[in-house]
Amino acid sequence: MNFLTALTSLAFAAWIGESAFAGVAPARPSAPFYSAPVPVPEPKGFREWRYLVIHHSGSSVGNVAMLQAEHLRRGMENGLAYHFLIGNGSAGLRDGEVAEGRRWRYQLQGGHTHQPELNEVGIGICLVGNFNRTSPTDAQWRALAQLALRLQREFNIPDDHIHGHGQYFGEDSDCPGKNFAWERLWKAMDAAFERERTPQSDRLASGATPPSRQP
Ligand SMILES: [Zn+2]
Repeated sequence: MNFLTALTSLAFAAWIGESAFAGVAPARPSAPFYSAPVPVPEPKGFREWRYLVIHHSGSSVGNVAMLQAEHLRRGMENGLAYHFLIGNGSAGLRDGEVAEGRRWRYQLQGGHTHQPELNEVGIGICLVGNFNRTSPTDAQWRALAQLALRLQREFNIPDDHIHGHGQYFGEDSDCPGKNFAWERLWKAMDAAFERERTPQSDRLASGATPPSRQP
């Protein structure tokens, strides 16, 4: 057997070997279908977000893993319906801690409203808590204000594109609860804006245009 023949027969054996397994299906995972969200490629850039949609979790306790599991169980293949979750100090998510969901990381449409069109352009922000019974904590207001300000700037979202879930036309919901005080949010956003502006005083003094709170 010369070298070429040996190589050919080796290749043939490999081909036969492979084809012998071609019809065998991969083992079916024993875990339930909601054990992990579907894999998605890394995003190339941000979506053109136009609205902020504020929610409460309706529960006094919550973190990303808990809500993700709940939403997967409810049949949402991408898991956690919101883009951001703001903790209240329960279940290991600190009071005022902002957690990014995988829908933000991968720039996926939300699953947080009933309308697909709104989910495509609305950033879903959920605060852990039931604000029909309690109110957001001080740390949650501060975190929400900072996050909202950051997103407003990044995507040129005006104040009148920031609403509670139930305020959006076509959504039948009392979310984020009757105790969600909007004047607290606007005040907290103004305060966050002022806090950010202070260290820039040198630049402002040199004649630069001060940033505008309203895009
Ligand atoms: Zn909601």
